[in-house]
Amino acid sequence: MRFEISKVMDAIEGRVCTDPNLARAVLDLAEVVRYQDLDGGRPANLLRLGMVIDALVRHLEEDNVPVYAVVHRALLSDADLTSNERMVVRRWADDGLVEVLDNPGDRMLEVADLLGLPVLTRARLDGLRGRYPWVAEQPGRVLAPVAGAGGPTLTAHVGGGTVPVSGTPSLAGAQLLARLWRCAEPGCALFGGGGGGGAFADLARVERSPSGQAPPTLRPGAPTCPRHGSRLNDAGARPRTQVLAVRIGGLTRRRFVLTSDEPVLVGRAPEQSGGIMLGQWLNDEARRWISRSHLQFELRVGEVIVTDLSTNGSGIRPGGSMDEAERIPLAPRQSRVLGPGDMVELYPGVQVGRAGELPTGAAFNPTSVMAEAPTMAMRLPRP
Ligand SMILES: [Zn+2]
Repeated sequence: MRFEISKVMDAIEGRVCTDPNLARAVLDLAEVVRYQDLDGGRPANLLRLGMVIDALVRHLEEDNVPVYAVVHRALLSDADLTSNERMVVRRWADDGLVEVLDNPGDRMLEVADLLGLPVLTRARLDGLRGRYPWVAEQPGRVLAPVAGAGGPTLTAHVGGGTVPVSGTPSLAGAQLLARLWRCAEPGCALFGGGGGGGAFADLARVERSPSGQAPPTLRPGAPTCPRHGSRLNDAGARPRTQVLAVRIGGLTRRRFVLTSDEPVLVGRAPEQSGGIMLGQWLNDEARRWISRSHLQFELRVGEVIVTDLSTNGSGIRPGGSMDEAERIPLAPRQSRVLGPGDMVELYPGVQVGRAGELPTGAAFNPTSVMAEAPTMAMRLPRP
């Protein structure tokens, strides 16, 4: 395998997950890899997933956005992919990063309905509008990835816009996500012991924990494993979570999940596994100011508690206010409960807050998931 390709694949791998806390859109991987007009290349090409993810990032104006991919099992042995691409998809399947199905049917729409996510597809969904009215009614909820002048772009099936719009999780989705589920099939990647494919220490990957377990399917009328078709057992209450986001220079760089299981460290380069490393996005001054482990976040009885572990201290911006007079200093070793809308500021312009409360997009300059792609793979269709 060529080194550059393997780096692109690693970058794309960090953007696929079945975690309801983090996924920002649903797509059918077998469909996306065949969007030949995106690059004019081979009949099936896994790099097209990266192009579609880049389009999603541009239109959401937020960096490091993961997608929830549903995959027909046939793609794992599809001769139009290279053997390396098949190996990569198989690994994603084994790790539970994508959902592999013998009969995907309308699973993509079911996931979007349960989680309230937008759908990226070119498929006409005419027959499913009765079951999922938002397909026809909510502008921006279903978007087609298409070739555009400056690279792949998105265009909404309804309303013609380009910005993906989320809905609210359905009532059934909210009920399913309140519990943990266990599949009787040994080694089930989605609903096995611990609820996921195991913990990854690699920061480039989206971490998995029981709170990130995929939603079961309800098509047979009861919670069922979409992969194995077996009825799932209720394995107790799902741990509470809070999704936090890091914003740097006005752009949300990444989200992360806080659970009551363990605190999360945020800083220039925290040594703790699962820590959120900011160093790669900071200028020299910010890098000098911000400590390796600068802040600790904990979730206790639903409250987000932030503790400063740094040398230089931090500040709280109450309700997200950018008024300097309202900034509350957070001295080293000091703790504070994060109120509604509050942001913690490690350094001017470097902030952490609840994901839904941080506006993003200013001075937008996302990192392409394809940044390392060789020019051959990046060839765009002629206008
Ligand atoms: Zn299963």
